[in-house]
Amino acid sequence: MENEMRRKHWFSFPSLTVSLKVPVAVLMVLFGMIPMLLCTQVLIGTLRQIQTDSRMVEVQNQCQILSSKMTRTGYLRGDSRDGTMDSEIQAMADVYNGRIVVVNRDFRIVQDTFHIAERRFLVAEEVVRCFQGESSSKYNKDKHYFAQAIPIYDSTPIKGIEGVLVITASTEGILSLMDTVYDKALFLEILVTLVLILAAMGVVTMLLRPFQELQKKLNQVAAGALDTDIRTDSYRETKDISRAVGSTLSKLKEVDQSRQEFVSNVSHELKTPITSIRVLADSLMGMGEAPVELYQEFMEDISDEIDRESKIIDDLLSLVKLDKSEAEINLSQVDIVVLVKQILKRLRPIANKKNVELILESIREVTADVDETKLSLAISNLVENAIKYNSAGGWVRVTVDADHKFFYVKVADCGIGIPEEEQDRIFERFYRVDKARSRATGGSGLGLSITRRVVLMHKGAIRLTSKEGDGSIFTLRIPLNYIA
Ligand code: ADP
Repeated sequence: MENEMRRKHWFSFPSLTVSLKVPVAVLMVLFGMIPMLLCTQVLIGTLRQIQTDSRMVEVQNQCQILSSKMTRTGYLRGDSRDGTMDSEIQAMADVYNGRIVVVNRDFRIVQDTFHIAERRFLVAEEVVRCFQGESSSKYNKDKHYFAQAIPIYDSTPIKGIEGVLVITASTEGILSLMDTVYDKALFLEILVTLVLILAAMGVVTMLLRPFQELQKKLNQVAAGALDTDIRTDSYRETKDISRAVGSTLSKLKEVDQSRQEFVSNVSHELKTPITSIRVLADSLMGMGEAPVELYQEFMEDISDEIDRESKIIDDLLSLVKLDKSEAEINLSQVDIVVLVKQILKRLRPIANKKNVELILESIREVTADVDETKLSLAISNLVENAIKYNSAGGWVRVTVDADHKFFYVKVADCGIGIPEEEQDRIFERFYRVDKARSRATGGSGLGLSITRRVVLMHKGAIRLTSKEGDGSIFTLRIPLNYIA
């Protein structure tokens, strides 16, 4: 259900899944473009400033030369009214695409290259200040022009300043030059951006190639080729991912293999009693007129085989129930000594049949948070085994003890023991040390797996110490209080 919803989600918003290539390429292009745009802006700004400043200095110098000439020729006194000076003033105004106004001591305009304000008065602040000896220079950024006021000295130094030359010149020319530079820069920027996009796409494709290789291999795995070598060591990231997936895969393979083994074991185990029943029934039928005692004997064997079959099925069902991930644990405060006493009481008839003595050793009173039914099944399996794999006249001792954290149930017997090399495997499903003997005793081969599963559910541990021929000791260690 959840998967389906997730699938639907992906189908509804396919556009949300972007390839890693996109952000990486966009970032690369941005990292290239932003500094380039900033650089061109700063460079063009600086260039414009330098151009304007040098134009202003140049104009100032030229005006100063002009003013000196006026002083020398006595222009304002009317000594050289032959027009040469006027043409020079006009020429200079034209060269700098501006307007020159000459004001005399009475603030009257004596020359205006635009010829619109002659004979009028010009009492501007700059002009007044200039008469006081302060030449001024102003630049109007918004209207793109600058204005300068330069004093015209009298030929006799005592008389001081006899007029002011005011020049206003436009910087439009510089601006249009800058526009041309800007257009060229823009063209270059677009070109570089295109190159950057192509380069970014190429680099990103190259950088992500190992990830694509890994993806291809994973697709093969998804298609069922579980043995595909998915190692991709090009980057640490691909190496880590492929390693993680590899170990998940090998775990999956193990699970798959053990599932297959389990299924084949189950079929084999279930088939064995049926085969025996068939053999017994067939031989009975083949006998024709057989004595009643023989029929009885065979029927008893058939009944034993049926018991075995149902024991296997019961154990399998318990195991399947325990294996379910949502297997519930029904905790309650249980007196462990009482629980063990009940188990021993139930098993005593079997023990007596085998002439095995059952001993309970209770070191202290123990009450713990456990699932009574499941724990009872686990301990019963151990005691049953201790009886089954014992010799006549033997004993089984069950000891109950505890410390401040755990309680311990020890099941010791003086039976046949378990060879060291088999000790790790006996907790596996259907594993038996002596196949024939175990079947003969009616074992399903599932008892110890059930016990271990129950102990793990209680967050406990199981330990075995045994020596072949000397008996075995199974010890359960379970927390007194269940740890969630
Ligand atoms: P089974 O139903 O065959 O007894 P178990 O899972 O309970 O299955 O035990 C697995 C195997 O471990 C048994 O077949 C037996 O060979 C061995 N085993 C278990 N308990 C003992 C024991 N107390 N002494 C000797 N062997 C044991």
